[in-house]
Amino acid sequence: MFDQWQQPLDIPALIRKDITLQGEARISEMLSIKDGLVARASGRLDGIVLNDPLVRFEFRFGRNEVGHRLIEGSVDTVVDLTCQRCLEPVAVEIHTKVMLGVLNNEQDVGKLPESTEPLVLGENPVWLADLIEDEILLALPVVPRHAHLCVPFHREYDDAEVVENPFAALRGLVKPSTH
Ligand SMILES: [Zn+2]
Repeated sequence: MFDQWQQPLDIPALIRKDITLQGEARISEMLSIKDGLVARASGRLDGIVLNDPLVRFEFRFGRNEVGHRLIEGSVDTVVDLTCQRCLEPVAVEIHTKVMLGVLNNEQDVGKLPESTEPLVLGENPVWLADLIEDEILLALPVVPRHAHLCVPFHREYDDAEVVENPFAALRGLVKPSTH
């Protein structure tokens, strides 16, 4: 059977055959197979994701009732990110719904259902590890933070002061109207 990790995905064939790829793997495992390297934490996630999480994934390849070629599924994991308040690791749950519309040409993007993200074939080979990495990257919070107040109150207060400063400075420049 086709080895989903050892070679780029033949997406047209997977869609033709209505194949579902599912399973779980650590990020280091999937990337080390692809790159032929010693296991490492991650590729594009390197330096962002601090742990090597187990990722559960499912990708269903097929067509919808009007013939659009789609990849639907999900990616679930828990990544450790750097908390932007205390700079300690914070665990963040990732649950993505995958909805990709497969195209041969970028010009056809307008023909896809609005709920899909375009995936244009033929530019670069698409590996299963790439699909999974993309989904995690897109789902990462912009400013990861602990849910609890992880630094002492006075630090928070200082931060608020810094944010206010530009406005405070402007206040002095605005002269009262003389009309
Ligand atoms: Zn924190």
